[in-house]
Amino acid sequence: MDETHDPTRTSWVESAQGHPDFPIQNLPYGVFHRRDDTDDPSPARLCMAIGDSVLDLTACHDEGWFTGAADLAGAAFAEPALNALLALGPETWRAVRRQASALLASDSSAFRANRRIGDHVLVPMAEAELTLPFVAGDYTDFYASVHHASNVGALFRPDNPLLPNYKWVPIGYHGRASSLVPSDTPVRRPHGQRKDPGSDAPTFGPSRALDWEAEVGFVVGRENALGAPVPIADAGSHLFGLCLVNDWSARDVQSWEYQPLGPFLAKNFATTVSPWVVTLDALEPFRVPAAPRPSGDPSPLPYLTDPSDQRCGAFDVTIEVWLSSARMRAEQAEPVRVSRGRLADLYWTPAQMLAHHTSGGCNLRPGDLLASGTVSGPDRENRGCLLELTRRGAEPLVLPTGETRAFLEDGDEVVLRGYAEREGVVRVGFGECVGTVGV
Ligand code: CA
Repeated sequence: MDETHDPTRTSWVESAQGHPDFPIQNLPYGVFHRRDDTDDPSPARLCMAIGDSVLDLTACHDEGWFTGAADLAGAAFAEPALNALLALGPETWRAVRRQASALLASDSSAFRANRRIGDHVLVPMAEAELTLPFVAGDYTDFYASVHHASNVGALFRPDNPLLPNYKWVPIGYHGRASSLVPSDTPVRRPHGQRKDPGSDAPTFGPSRALDWEAEVGFVVGRENALGAPVPIADAGSHLFGLCLVNDWSARDVQSWEYQPLGPFLAKNFATTVSPWVVTLDALEPFRVPAAPRPSGDPSPLPYLTDPSDQRCGAFDVTIEVWLSSARMRAEQAEPVRVSRGRLADLYWTPAQMLAHHTSGGCNLRPGDLLASGTVSGPDRENRGCLLELTRRGAEPLVLPTGETRAFLEDGDEVVLRGYAEREGVVRVGFGECVGTVGV
């Protein structure tokens, strides 16, 4: 840890003090352009969140405030995605973070010299249109919560909920990068084949079992060459940061199509990504040991074992899901929290997932997205999707309006939130990942 984590460091950006997500200790990266009414909006470029504002990194660079590696990253700041910055590697990301933190600190020399520097480099978040922060060439979705895998498995195979490979191999599938969408993009209810249990043949039409999946995304920073696996001890240096991911799922389509090759159209119509990527550097104070394995479980194979990863390779991040129906919003009822899970409960660490992904020689590239799979835990309140919460619709949720939900209805809004907090450390958050179901 370094001075950027100092809990006593404050910012001249007053809204950053006590901000639940974006204090000066966080500084997540995003991409924005100014909202305006013209047909020719200003180009998108990189920023960091600080309190209720975004810090325009290009403007900081133009002011001449960056030096060394951070100064050399100037061209990457003007790009409409994080990818060019990701390719520059951890030393550059760290230099930008440290220099941005120093600039934003209450004792900043630039601020002492000019108390109005915020006019040049800050944009109120209300005036910033946030876009997808990175261009993912490839998207992989894991299945790393043993609680999710067991709960879902029990619904479909009561006698054999967890398949025998689960505790040996980080299970995943190759997802669809083209339908990754930024937060606030409406999610159109997909049409697909679904077969009722009593029917002989499927029908084609709108999904009747639309669900969310609360996940965390791991954004790849540095690439590895084709044919060059990343050893687990190096895997952390290939990861840039974490974001929120909602892997929307059509359960009726999924249950008909998934055998023998796994998810396909049930999960490729939209996957919502949060606008902010919280760096591994910002999450350094929230590292915790890998979740202990129950006695009798196998030890990971050597290529998935690293003492440092076992000691501090998991992240104590809490993921919440908040739901509101159109009627709740019309009646001005507050959204209800329907799930709260812990990323640290996953059976596999991010480094194990990345090492496994490359172990056969697959190359990962800057901006590739690896998602955790639904983050669920041991208790009912930890279940990260409706399939688990309602036991496949058998036990519907009851909303404050008296409405019930087995699966999502049109007009439902799903908001994911994430945060990390610990005694003696300033809490950092992920902002929101929002999607509303439409037709
Ligand atoms: Ca998923």
